[in-house]
Amino acid sequence: MNTIQKQYGTFDILPDKVKVWQYVESVIRKITVNYGFDEIRFPTFESTELFTRSVGGTTDIVQKEMYTFNDRDKRSLSLRPEGTACVVRSIIENGLVFNAMPLKLYYIANFFRHEKAQKGRSREFWQFGIEIFGSDSPSADATAIMLANSVFTALGVKDVKLHLNSIGCDECRPAYREKLVEYLTANSEALCPICKERLQTNPLRVLDCKIDSCKKVSENAPKSTDHLCSDCDEHFKQLQQLLTECGVDFVIDTNIVRGLDYYTKTVFEFIDESIGAQSTVCGGGRYSKLVEILGGPKTDAVGFGMGITRLLAAMENSGSIPELKSAPKLYIAPIGNRAKQKAFILTEVLRANKIYAECDLCNRSVKAQMKYADKIGAEAVIVMGDNELDIGKAQIKNMQTGESKETELTSEALINLLNF
Ligand code: ATP
Ligand code: MG
Repeated sequence: MNTIQKQYGTFDILPDKVKVWQYVESVIRKITVNYGFDEIRFPTFESTELFTRSVGGTTDIVQKEMYTFNDRDKRSLSLRPEGTACVVRSIIENGLVFNAMPLKLYYIANFFRHEKAQKGRSREFWQFGIEIFGSDSPSADATAIMLANSVFTALGVKDVKLHLNSIGCDECRPAYREKLVEYLTANSEALCPICKERLQTNPLRVLDCKIDSCKKVSENAPKSTDHLCSDCDEHFKQLQQLLTECGVDFVIDTNIVRGLDYYTKTVFEFIDESIGAQSTVCGGGRYSKLVEILGGPKTDAVGFGMGITRLLAAMENSGSIPELKSAPKLYIAPIGNRAKQKAFILTEVLRANKIYAECDLCNRSVKAQMKYADKIGAEAVIVMGDNELDIGKAQIKNMQTGESKETELTSEALINLLNF
């Protein structure tokens, strides 16, 4: 029979890798809980309108990346391409927007985008994300950034750099946008075909284009930070001051605009050049209009999304992926049917006492069992047959030192021995 392969742009996470993922997730959860965030989980698919309305009709995500389909009831649904819209939909629908503020939520979830698969880019990918609702203070932006920074520090990521920008608000952005369009129009010859289109629909996105000729044009483009209203300017300065006082290095990078329509004021990315072309490990910013756009009350918000595979790549380059093994403390190798039953029962009692033990499940010879015990890294091995059962004692062999000593074949004796 022919075999079936995984879909383009998806990947399996095999047991050895899962251990690393679990480690990363546990570090993330510990830090995030320490920052006072609660986890939220939301559906894998939502109404397509949720994303067209929030992420925006002029973005890559909505224009060409969403997995959109009609279900059997002819509803237009989309696999979630990102988390913020889902969180906002949920807190409005469930009334969490009326909770005591700030409301601090996080998620670790998979998302789906129909993209060209390459290093650091897949069609199903995982993000750790956080959202802080109900604060317009720069200290909320700083909290989001400090939290991401703490995750990088805790996971030993060395080469990641914080790029910071402010893209202003409804007050100051229209005038800036006009100046930018004027400049880009004058230089439109040098823009790539997609950016020529962006110039009409989403001109800020031109600044974000990775194509060389567009990058060159962007270098001399008017900067949003030179056109901020006094409120945005003060907000941006205070944020920088907080980060500086916390000892976080950053660069002001006016080409960071983020792809999504809903950002205001602060936008930021953590970039690790060492992991290749897809170097943005974490992207986020302030989006104080989104809750209203989705039908809720006016609510300030700031958050980020961090790509787990890119985080792992950054850890790999920093040499900070730990070796994670789960080896049994004891392997019991029985000879004969009586011993098999006893080995099984002893193993179960040890497990019930939180000691990781294994015994033979494959009816192997003693020699093959010893080889297997060695392969799975068992710390100690007991071989037992009828003789050992009759006298109630057996030799326990330390697999590292090769030394053996006698032990009683009772669960109490083994628990005592192995708990040392
Ligand atoms: P990019 O510019 O790389 O396309 P983006 O702006 O589309 O990123 P966001 O929507 O801000 O990305 O998502 C936040 C983070 O999620 C990214 O910085 C990245 O680490 C990760 N990410 C986004 N898309 C993918 C993908 N297709 N595969 C793997 N990780 C991804
Ligand atoms: Mg993208």
